[in-house]
Amino acid sequence: MSKLPRLTNIYSKVKEDNGGRDYTLLAIEATSPFTYQLGRPDPMRYQVKVTGLANMYTGPLAVQDGILREVTITVKPEESQVLFEVWLEAPAEATVSFTEGLPSRLTLLLSRSPLKDFYCGKRVVLDPGHGGADGGHRGPVNLWEKDVVWKTAQEFSRQLRRLGAEVILTRAEGENPPWEERAGKGEGADLFISLHTHGEGDRKVRGAAVLYPPGSREMEILARAVLERIVSKTKVPGRGIFPAAELGKVKGCPALAIETVTITNWVDEGILRNPYFHRKLALAVLAGFFCTYGEKRGK
Ligand SMILES: [Zn+2]
Repeated sequence: MSKLPRLTNIYSKVKEDNGGRDYTLLAIEATSPFTYQLGRPDPMRYQVKVTGLANMYTGPLAVQDGILREVTITVKPEESQVLFEVWLEAPAEATVSFTEGLPSRLTLLLSRSPLKDFYCGKRVVLDPGHGGADGGHRGPVNLWEKDVVWKTAQEFSRQLRRLGAEVILTRAEGENPPWEERAGKGEGADLFISLHTHGEGDRKVRGAAVLYPPGSREMEILARAVLERIVSKTKVPGRGIFPAAELGKVKGCPALAIETVTITNWVDEGILRNPYFHRKLALAVLAGFFCTYGEKRGK
C-alpha cells in the first residue's frame, strides 16, 4: 500500500487581513503534504485536483457568502484523486498557498472586491423594529425584540461600512419613531432592511421569514434569495416569504423585512445570544441582495 495523504477537512470563512481587506478563505486539510493541480475552467469556477484519499464528509459544502457559492467534492478512488469544484457567486480572483505540517493545508484566498465594488457608495437604510416603550415580542427567558434587532442592526452596519456603503438607521437606541417616518428614510436609498423577530403563542414555532412589498415579483425573488441564504448560513429553519402591506410605504427602493428568528421559541431565543448568529445573518442577507442585483445593476 502506498502512503497516500488522507484528506480530513474542508472549511470556509470570511477573513480580514491586517490591511483591512476581506477575503473568503477556503482550506483543504490533509494528514501529510499533498500534490494538487489548480484549474479555472471558467470565470465562475475553480477546480482543485488533489492526489490522496478522502477521509472526510464529501457532500457539498454550501457557503453562499456572496463570493463562494459552494464546493462539490468528487472522489475517484481508482485514480487516488479527489476533485474539488469551487463554484463562485462572482468572478473573484484567488491567491493560493500551501503550508506543510499537521495538518498540511491548501488555502485559497478569494478576493471579496466584487462585493465591495457593488456596495461601495450605496445607501442602505436599516430599520431596527420597535424601540423605547415598545419592546416588541419577548423571549421565554428574557430577551426583548427591540434589543436584539438593535444588535443585529449594529452588525449589518459594521459589515456595510466595511464594504464602503453609507448606512442610515431609522431610530436611535431608545427611540420608537412611527412607521411613516421610518419608511420615509427609504427615499433615495438603494436598499431598505427592516429588522424584526417573529413571535407566536405556540412556543414550538421557530424559524426565520422574509417579508416583501405586495405585488412585486422582483421583491418576491429577492426575498426568496435572501431567505435561502439565511437558512443555509445560519441553519435556522425557514418559515417562508410573505407579502407585507407596510413595506409598500417604502418608495423608490427595494425593501424587505427580515424576521430573523422566532423569539418566543426557546431554541431561537438562545441563538440570538450568539454573536456569530448576527454576523452570519448579516453576511447572508447582504450576499442575497448582491447576488440578485449584482449582475443586473452593477454599480
Ligand atoms: Zn417586530
